[in-house]
Amino acid sequence: MNLQGRHALVTGGGRGIGRAVAAALRGAGATVTVLGRQEASLSETVAAGDATGYTVADVTDETSLGQAIAQAAKARGAIDVLVANAGGAESAPFPKADAALFRRMFELNTMGVVHAVHAVIDGMVARRSGRIVAIASIAGLKGYPYVSAYCAAKHAVVGLVRALAAETATTGVTVNAVCPGYTDTEMVRDGVDRIREKTGRSREEILAHMLEQAPIGRLIRPEEVAAAVLYLASPEAAAVTGTTLAVAGGEA
Ligand code: NDP
Repeated sequence: MNLQGRHALVTGGGRGIGRAVAAALRGAGATVTVLGRQEASLSETVAAGDATGYTVADVTDETSLGQAIAQAAKARGAIDVLVANAGGAESAPFPKADAALFRRMFELNTMGVVHAVHAVIDGMVARRSGRIVAIASIAGLKGYPYVSAYCAAKHAVVGLVRALAAETATTGVTVNAVCPGYTDTEMVRDGVDRIREKTGRSREEILAHMLEQAPIGRLIRPEEVAAAVLYLASPEAAAVTGTTLAVAGGEA
């Protein structure tokens, strides 16, 4: 995969899956901007050579996100590849998942993608070239207990990707979702720690329970998700749009 001369922007690119995606795109020759809220991890990502530059923004703030993306485009060229990766999960049994929690999950996981796409789509269509990859989740394809708001927000991302792909099919822009299973990042490590505090169960027990439905029997590596993103971002994937690519070890 050769992405020389392409500018890719990865939201949430300072750690976890986003960082692995940035490194993979950089490895394929792309100019890469990472975006997030915490400057320290973003600048460290650039210093380590996993990205070319960074810009600070909160994806839930449409105005500042739009300004940050415009600033990145001014500094390093028009955005050819958008990886809308920033996201996060809060868990609660449904009776305790109040409207505020649902709104937080939709603001971050769904509207964060909507705002990022709004910032790049007109330019991509005008140039008749672009790649949009949203990091949804296997929770965007099936239901899980205690994460109803996260599941609903990720299902919404999958719906958005399918609709956008239909709308842009003749424009040279592709829109796809990658749907990881449980992946070895801070998000899962924090989740395991929270369950451990609540239940007193060991890390191993909790992980074994989480992986019961995953035939592969282990966490996915961020680099394995990044490889799927790299393919969808490549010129070779020009005819692939509106798909959901599960990187979930056989979980379906
Ligand atoms: P991490 O918690 O490790 O990283 C999340 C990233 O998103 C960070 O870089 C963070 O940066 C950024 N981020 C969070 N909130 C915002 C915000 N409001 N504005 C801008 N950036 C933000 O998570 P993962 O790498 O595990 O997850 C990445 C994506 O993959 C998420 O969308 C997640 O839902 C999805 N996913 C993860 C799975 C897993 O098991 N790990 C499984 C399936 C999907 P900062 O704090 O600097 O803002």
